[in-house]
Amino acid sequence: MIGVLALQGGFDAHLKVLRALGEEAREVRTVADLEGLDGLVMPGGESTTMTLGIAREGLAEPLRDAIRGGLPVLGTCAGLIMLDRDHLDVMDIVAKRNAFGRQVRSFEADLDFADLEGDSVHAIFIRAPWIEEHGPGVEVLAAVDGHPVAAREGDIMVLAFHPELSGEDRLHRLFLDRVRSAARR
Ligand code: GLN
Repeated sequence: MIGVLALQGGFDAHLKVLRALGEEAREVRTVADLEGLDGLVMPGGESTTMTLGIAREGLAEPLRDAIRGGLPVLGTCAGLIMLDRDHLDVMDIVAKRNAFGRQVRSFEADLDFADLEGDSVHAIFIRAPWIEEHGPGVEVLAAVDGHPVAAREGDIMVLAFHPELSGEDRLHRLFLDRVRSAARR
């Protein structure tokens, strides 16, 4: 069972991709919804609003405990920000919000992605962050103009862009591979 944090933002598109891949997936809004999950998606949205929602629901500590306890996570865009040192502090990265310029700088790019064979990844960036700093345990998987926009640390994968909006399901499948290998450990 994959949970998608559904306090705010683009959770619905992630649920659709996961279900199209044959996974059971549910919305996570409360601490009780974290029970029994095999993986978690933190979607894009607005990181300040998401932070407030997490605080309101008392989800910060339970999320941190679950992720530090080994729950595999895919964080996209605002989800990447939520996982960094300055927010939930479960990944050894510092995100820079709205990094690609002011206000509405949104763009698409074709990325070489380290863990994927075959075609490049068509990536949609919407007021996206990049990874400004990261520790030695973090593997950078893709970059734009030298700025990391995809990375992995253990079973946490973060993407500054929106694979759930471009018909790209290979990155969700990479995440699900991690979910399956974590379940076997
Ligand atoms: N700019 C947003 C933020 O800082 C993130 C954008 C997104 O998730 N598409 O929270």
